[in-house]
Amino acid sequence: MDCKEVLGKIYLYLDNEILTESERRQIEEHLKWCFKCCQMYELERNLENLIRINGRNDEVPASLFFRIENVIAQF
Ligand SMILES: [Zn+2]
Repeated sequence: MDCKEVLGKIYLYLDNEILTESERRQIEEHLKWCFKCCQMYELERNLENLIRINGRNDEVPASLFFRIENVIAQF
């Protein structure tokens, strides 16, 4: 899997259900060595947690969105 594939599936990975076992393993392997995707994964996970805790999208700090945009811009 390359970065594009992994990033395209990060959301599914975070949802925990849609991917097959081998897809999940491939993503995990990729995240071990790819700093960019790992960073993206961490940001997404933090965002998910914030949304879950706050229950509302507009409670997510603007700074976090700014960081995510920065990471996306690197690709
Ligand atoms: Zn990658």
